[in-house]
Amino acid sequence: MKYDRIYNFSAGPATMPEPVLEEIRDEMMNYRGTGMSVMEMSHRSKAYQQIIDEAEQDLRDLMGIPDNYKVLFIQGGATLQFAMVPMNLMKNGKAVYVETGAWSKKAIAEAKKYGEVIVAASSKDKNYTYVPDCSDLDIPADADYVYICENETIHGVTFSQLPNTKGHVLVSDQSSMFLSKPCNVSDYGMIYAGVQKNVGPAGMVIAIIREDLLRDDLDPTTPIYMNYKLQADNDSMYNTPNCWAIYCCGKVFKYLKSIGGLDAMYEKNLDKAKVMYDFLDQSKMFTGTVEKEFRSLMNIPFVTENAEKDAAVVAATKAAGFENLKGHKSVGGLRASTYNAMPKEGVEALVKFLKEYEAANA
Ligand SMILES: *Cc1c(COP(=O)(O)O)cnc(C)c1O
Repeated sequence: MKYDRIYNFSAGPATMPEPVLEEIRDEMMNYRGTGMSVMEMSHRSKAYQQIIDEAEQDLRDLMGIPDNYKVLFIQGGATLQFAMVPMNLMKNGKAVYVETGAWSKKAIAEAKKYGEVIVAASSKDKNYTYVPDCSDLDIPADADYVYICENETIHGVTFSQLPNTKGHVLVSDQSSMFLSKPCNVSDYGMIYAGVQKNVGPAGMVIAIIREDLLRDDLDPTTPIYMNYKLQADNDSMYNTPNCWAIYCCGKVFKYLKSIGGLDAMYEKNLDKAKVMYDFLDQSKMFTGTVEKEFRSLMNIPFVTENAEKDAAVVAATKAAGFENLKGHKSVGGLRASTYNAMPKEGVEALVKFLKEYEAANA
């Protein structure tokens, strides 16, 4: 394979598109005649302003983000949003959460520090292998928002339809599905995503937030960095942003536009995931762990009959040049993350290997 790269099925940080990495390499030492790398550039320079402006505009074009939504580039990873969301959006001190796996659980635990958290639905009873019915949630009239993790990276479950929020603001953690398919931004009050799953390098979150949710009246002890309005008023440049991640993400946005946008990306992702799920559905050795309706296109967990055999398969895949197929330590088994930048050939090669492994070890 070109550059001796391997198929990297990591859940994050994860594989990036090769044409993007090549462009970054080509611009590394001297970015477009500036005589310096983007890594070395002032975030107040004209060259950098153009990079961040274009990144935002390209993202707006890709997702069709309406004008009344702000796009923010914030550091601290998706984890910081677990606190920032309640700190900024809990006006009445009350919010409804849907518990569907490891990441929504963490968000719930963090939000409890800031107000009342009502877990209106949970799939804990079946170890987070499905998404509970959210068509008629019990939502108090004064709840500030309804929160979901739209794609649970560890458990591999994804919402097949959005909850009925009964007029309340919907907040979604889209970290591991961001830009994997078209998204109707107006269905949400806020969307956020850590970019190291499906977009770029680690260390940044993109938050898309409806303007009317920005507030001047936060608790005065709120750290200044954690105020969405301040971030919006300063175009994500109140302090030095993650310049490098914004630059790399901007390249990925242009790349996605060049291949036909999110509709085209979605087709590719459906096609790719089908290769994996079709294999799992006919295999006698491997079983997908998630109910069909809620299977993620991005994170595909599967198991053999026991942990010992799981470990043997993980070791064999690694020896064959497939990296990071070990399931998260909290659930075990295996997990193939098939993000945007994973080519179909990678999934086909993995399936071919697993088929041969099954035949040899039946
Ligand atoms: C990875 C992940 C997070 C945490 O991201 P960090 O950037 O490591 O804080 C949160 N939510 C989801 C859905 C994730 O996949």
